[in-house]
Amino acid sequence: MAALPPLREVIAGSGLSARKGLGQNFLFDLNLTGKIARTAAPLDRGTVIEVGPGPGGLTRALLSEGATRVVAIEKDARCIEALAPLVEAADGRLVLLQADALTVDVEALGPPPRRIVANLPYNVATPLLIGWLKRAELFERLVLMFQKEVAERIVARPGDDAYGRLGVLTGWRAHAHIAFSLPPRAFTPPPKVESAVVDIEPRVPPPEDCRLADLEAVTAAAFGQRRKMLRRSLKTLTPAAETLIAETGLDPTARAETLTVADFAALARGWRRLSESGDA
Ligand code: SAM
Repeated sequence: MAALPPLREVIAGSGLSARKGLGQNFLFDLNLTGKIARTAAPLDRGTVIEVGPGPGGLTRALLSEGATRVVAIEKDARCIEALAPLVEAADGRLVLLQADALTVDVEALGPPPRRIVANLPYNVATPLLIGWLKRAELFERLVLMFQKEVAERIVARPGDDAYGRLGVLTGWRAHAHIAFSLPPRAFTPPPKVESAVVDIEPRVPPPEDCRLADLEAVTAAAFGQRRKMLRRSLKTLTPAAETLIAETGLDPTARAETLTVADFAALARGWRRLSESGDA
């Protein structure tokens, strides 16, 4: 590994000019890639999944920090080619998969415990996270770079300006916090926005029993009109909104931004009961 050329040489040698459409903002700073890898430690068991290794900066850090099996999914064929020497140097510890991470079956990538560690392509970061949250029981930990504004929505709590559907869905399935933030200049090329690494630890099973589809339906209605009282905003979900709120024991004049994850789970269960009884 130590004999590998510096990342900037890898990029220059393989003509790997960054493509905006693939969310390519690369990390070259070994202190930063090492810090991300250490945030996700321990890495020496099960499967470490990396989405978008690019030229391999974070991949090198994961291997240096002791990962024994890294499966890296990359869409860009140019990166796959540029990473060949790293695969060779990793001596069986790195498997590369040329694929779209949005359609990969993560369970098939390797045995648990599974950790996802990635500097995500920002254009698909939220759909990737939601897909993984739907299958949160598959993962022990997710350490992921997002644009800071999205990171703040993921970790937001009731009453925070950033609190919304993403915070509820994440809070239902996991504990999440921002590990650290990075300025645009940490990346090449620099993105327009600040970034942050979010540390996500799934709760298995989720503490509140409800169905994800129901939680998505009630949060969509409630946050679709976040400044309105529940009795108004939930009317977009069902004409029986007042019955739903009364059965759940919530205040009909409350607003979505003040409801806890447990409140939304109660609404989701109530919505399911109403739908099944044909009263919705
Ligand atoms: N890990 C590298 C680093 O930190 O320098 C690169 C991170 S860059 C922000 C995102 C990477 O994800 C790029 O290499 C890009 O080609 C790749 N990518 C973009 N969309 C993807 C997708 N749908 N599936 C897999 N990889 C993707």
